[in-house]
Amino acid sequence: MTDRDPVKHRRVSLAIAIASLAAWWSVAHAVPDAHRPWMNATLDADRRAELVLAEMSRAEKQTLVFGYFATDAPWKKYVAPPEARAGSAGYVPGIPRLGIPPQWETDAGIGVASQAAARDKRGRTALPSGLATAASWDPALARRAGAMIGAEARASGFNVMLAGGVNLVREPRNGRNFEYGGEDPLLAGVIVGAQIAGIESNHLISTVKHFALNDQETDRNTVDVLIDRDQARMSDLLAFQIAIEQGNPGSVMCSYNKVWGEHACESSYLLTDLLRRDWGWRGYVMSDWGAVYSTAKAARSGTDQESGWPFDAKPFFRESLLKAVEAGEVPEARLNEMARRILRTMFAKGIIDHPVGSSPIDLPAKDLEAHAAISREGAEQGAVLLKNDGAILPLGADVKRIAVIGGHADKGVLAGGGSSLVYGAGGNAVPDLDPTSWPGPVMYYPSSPLGAIKALAPKAAVQFAGGEDRGAAARLAAQSDVAIVFVTLWDGESFDGELTLPDEQDALVSAVAKANPRAIVVLETGGAVFMPWINQVRGVVQAWYPGTSGGEAIANLLFGRVNPSGRLPISFPKEASQLARPALIETGATGDNTGKVRYAEGAAVGYKWHDAKKLPPLFPFGFGLSYTRFEQTGLTARLEGQDLVVKFRVRNVGQRAGKDVPQIYVSPVAGGWEAPKRLGGWRKVELPPGASTDVELRVDPRLLAMFSEAGGGWRIAPGAYKVLLGSSASKIDLETSVRLGERRLPATYHP
Ligand code: BGC
Repeated sequence: MTDRDPVKHRRVSLAIAIASLAAWWSVAHAVPDAHRPWMNATLDADRRAELVLAEMSRAEKQTLVFGYFATDAPWKKYVAPPEARAGSAGYVPGIPRLGIPPQWETDAGIGVASQAAARDKRGRTALPSGLATAASWDPALARRAGAMIGAEARASGFNVMLAGGVNLVREPRNGRNFEYGGEDPLLAGVIVGAQIAGIESNHLISTVKHFALNDQETDRNTVDVLIDRDQARMSDLLAFQIAIEQGNPGSVMCSYNKVWGEHACESSYLLTDLLRRDWGWRGYVMSDWGAVYSTAKAARSGTDQESGWPFDAKPFFRESLLKAVEAGEVPEARLNEMARRILRTMFAKGIIDHPVGSSPIDLPAKDLEAHAAISREGAEQGAVLLKNDGAILPLGADVKRIAVIGGHADKGVLAGGGSSLVYGAGGNAVPDLDPTSWPGPVMYYPSSPLGAIKALAPKAAVQFAGGEDRGAAARLAAQSDVAIVFVTLWDGESFDGELTLPDEQDALVSAVAKANPRAIVVLETGGAVFMPWINQVRGVVQAWYPGTSGGEAIANLLFGRVNPSGRLPISFPKEASQLARPALIETGATGDNTGKVRYAEGAAVGYKWHDAKKLPPLFPFGFGLSYTRFEQTGLTARLEGQDLVVKFRVRNVGQRAGKDVPQIYVSPVAGGWEAPKRLGGWRKVELPPGASTDVELRVDPRLLAMFSEAGGGWRIAPGAYKVLLGSSASKIDLETSVRLGERRLPATYHP
């Protein structure tokens, strides 16, 4: 064959055609990449951020550090930018010329929320409250829950989720406690960190918030929180540190309050010394909506992005920031760093390589069913059985007449108010309750406990009384085999609550209990409440705010379809006199007041305070009953290298399958801590009847140490330590001891 060979020629031509097509294809598709090398996903996030930053003008950098409220605010004569996702929390414009997308921000930790002022509310799945998730003591469940709400955020067109509330429950009346992870830094940090990791597994950015010491809503914009810094490192700040280690959130939201005389978003101690120097965290700090008070000071101390214009008095990070850079009040390098941190995080978390759609995707029914099941499971795993005298629960087939009373249980289940409020698919089951606008509406998800109870007891006569008429409720109870009273307490953002049930519900419970000794109370509350009727009732279930499938979850627990396994993530005090601050500190109205709240209790929060002051609570931290019984044996503690390793065996010695949450507490024999003991670890275990399992836990050395800034970090004092295995902070079942040598860990230590 010659070169003129037609076959070969054809082959060659074909090869050339394919090659040129390939060349055309690669050129056509590589052109943007050639011009935008930062779009090369094989480069690391630092390099990509550097490459794109080098192309950006000063004004473009500034664009990234200034966010808008994404909902119209007529009271501020503000119209949200058209590119914002209507009715949501925030919007930060992108740089289209460089392929950098906007940041579309949605609240919050229980699901995709809508702003109260939104014209159209998104119908989305709501998890049970944050405290309920913490009460599961199950990080794997928290992660699944986070992955679910993250998936809904992505499908709704959001790439930033303002979740990860981990403020310690230090003030039991705080209206936002329901959004958080409880009173213990280890439990809260691990659970909230797991949820953040779940959210971000969808290629999203999550926050952790509100940094820091934003533990009450009263005067939240002005209150100045004072606490010994070392004590803060072992309590509130440790919760953030652990959540950041576990979840690696892309962003930290600095809070409204002042800390040590400075606005949190102007605290270089919090935002630079802690986050960057000691904790080595690499994301960007965004402000809470209206938490910025300056340009140069906020920028220089470590706030990277101002959020939610027009909530601040001025747009501090807009023209003023450019002027401040020109005037040298904010170094150019600092503006570069702010933009770089945001860009790097966008690359690192995948929101550039995995862009969100421009309009919400309708989730297929099967996904929504799966999401409802995750929410229901969360409510079931987080509900806490507080009392079960004479095994009144679970309800059996012998119960023929059931009275369901109060709490709008015929309609639905309560949710907490404020920016985190998710609007469920079926609307509000009890509309028109006050307040109907911010921080309301008071929302009941249409998952009716009454309906779910009827479904599980088809042969029983199930009747409902609203409870407003106590006499009628008592009469119904008297005619029934069992009376289930639902009580509710609505908490929300921007106000603090009471620990006493409102609307004479205590009297309702007493009246019902008097009429029928087989009375069971189901609590739907944001956090702890007093229970003056506790000795009059046989059963108590703490259901928190149980989310959009809450009614079913409650019925499943009452009838034993699910064995309760939640444990309290907070202490329930008997009365206000047991609290570190018996009355809430009101520092004055808003404005220029310089009111201070002093946390003299330091790190002795919750059970640590009750322990230290020998004030037995109504229900202790870690407490929760089951329909089966567990037994622990063989507790040993040993050193592996320098680490404390604890082992024990748990056996289900009852008749039903169930889950236990054995807890390890550690305690220095010589004392010297803020409190006698601290939670050192736990494990949630699932066991069929008769089965046992061995548990091994490694105690984070920070939980055995005292922090001292002056001393350069953490120090474990040499000596004897008790290792306690308990079923709550007040009930220790086994004890052993171990001798620890002196150990010092730098402030930068992390496990
Ligand atoms: C809340 C934040 C929330 C933000 C945006 C603020 O009022 O404190 O938690 O993410 O609003 O809605």
